[in-house]
Amino acid sequence: MEALQNYSNYIGGAWLPPQRGESTTSVNPADRNEVVGCVPLSTREDLEMAVSAANAERGSWRKLSGAQRGAFLYKAADALERRLEEIGRMMTREMGKTLAEAKGEAARGAAILRYYAGEGMRKIGDVIPASDADAFMFTTRVPLGVVGAITPWNFPVAIPIWKIAPALIYGNAVVWKPALETAVTSVLVMECFHEAGLPKGVLNMVIGEGKEIGQGIAEHPDVHGITFTGSNAVGKSVGQAAFTRGAKYQLEMGGKNPIIVAADADLDLAVEATISGGFKSTGQKCTATSRVIVVQDVYDAFRNKLIEKTASIRVGNGLSESTWLGPCANEKQYETVLAYIRTGKEEGAKLLIGGSRPEEEELRNGYYVTPAVFEDVHSHMAIAQEEIFGPVLSLMKAADLAAAIELANDVPFGLSASLYTKDIATALAFVQEMEAGLVRINAETAGVELQAPFGGMKGSSSHSREQGQAAIEFFTSVKTVFMKP
Ligand code: NAD
Repeated sequence: MEALQNYSNYIGGAWLPPQRGESTTSVNPADRNEVVGCVPLSTREDLEMAVSAANAERGSWRKLSGAQRGAFLYKAADALERRLEEIGRMMTREMGKTLAEAKGEAARGAAILRYYAGEGMRKIGDVIPASDADAFMFTTRVPLGVVGAITPWNFPVAIPIWKIAPALIYGNAVVWKPALETAVTSVLVMECFHEAGLPKGVLNMVIGEGKEIGQGIAEHPDVHGITFTGSNAVGKSVGQAAFTRGAKYQLEMGGKNPIIVAADADLDLAVEATISGGFKSTGQKCTATSRVIVVQDVYDAFRNKLIEKTASIRVGNGLSESTWLGPCANEKQYETVLAYIRTGKEEGAKLLIGGSRPEEEELRNGYYVTPAVFEDVHSHMAIAQEEIFGPVLSLMKAADLAAAIELANDVPFGLSASLYTKDIATALAFVQEMEAGLVRINAETAGVELQAPFGGMKGSSSHSREQGQAAIEFFTSVKTVFMKP
């Protein structure tokens, strides 16, 4: 039997076990008997060391040019690309998504690194005419200092990188707290940065529990900005702690994303988008489709196609090529999904398909749930209002497009929304009325373009944007410079 590997924190350029030696195991959700690795349960002592290391190095890092900082990101991208297969496999073993999706995510990580490496050579300010004819006025940007990045388990490579890469390129040092559930994958990502030869202390990783390390980052007086992605409840507490001590913060949280199917939609394409948006990554994307709002003229035809397609989905271990849908990522998420399926039935919604454990013997040890579709779902029901984060769709019927948009907006979230139609006027009405940060026409809710702003409205986000050039807003402060001879 292979010996269980112990993984460490990365602090000040070195791999360090936690000061007090506590650890936990990371488990494969496809087979709960398989332990993937042993990871630290770090304490505030470890965090203190990481914050000190970052603060010690931030002065030299900010003095490098953007192009010099970018050179490290290009090297990290190359390292990540070389290890795509290995990192993809570890991601699948640790959180269940299919190998194709996991490798796709790792490749996206490399693309994000290259995008921000290039950002190091683009403009960061403007020249503005001064009121005084002798004066010269311009804006420039300065880093925040030390940025704390707190990340979830559902995209264990792409989400950390879309925080770390802009933080670094704009001159910040970073303390990263990855999700405990996918800590081994995070170690592999950190190894790529290590291989890139980043100066010691510029990027540090502390593995541990949210209440200990995450909250510690949010409250730490020497962490100048906090970028968080995760649940709403935790996001609010992180935002509160940061606000109280005057630190800058950015929160990306949940979604309850609708797809609207108009009467003139291409139903086959709309079904494809619903299946892909709702069930890929086992529904565990913040942009996952969860409410399917269909205009009544095409409701029956759409519903029948959707059920037929859902029935053909192959559930299984993500490492197998024939698998389309892997397990829920961990026990907590699995129990949450099953609880919402019970709630949906108790609330009076009709379960058309799925929502149970698969029957195959070889899947008995995993956190599997078959993809579920409810109908007769009313907007006030918990399954229509709350983020489930699992393979569960709620079908809702609307009299017309205006009623569909009203339903789509009737939630406390506003991350992504999609519409299927062939009519430009219908599309424009949706673009104008929809309360969401990402509005997509004839495209699924779960698509993300790394070069464009990403973020939500209402309870989904603190309204700043990640990705693309928009990231500069959070990771820097503007200085307005007025000069006279
Ligand atoms: P989570 O909120 O439980 O955890 C997110 C991170 O916060 C983890 O690293 C966790 O350890 C840490 N944490 C937990 N308690 C903390 C505390 N008290 N203080 C500080 N940090 C703490 O979320 P999760 O279960 O890991 O991820 C799923 C959630 O993430 C979903 O709600 C999903 O919608 C959201 N998400 C949002 C986006 C987005 O961009 N909007 C993307 C992916 C996931």
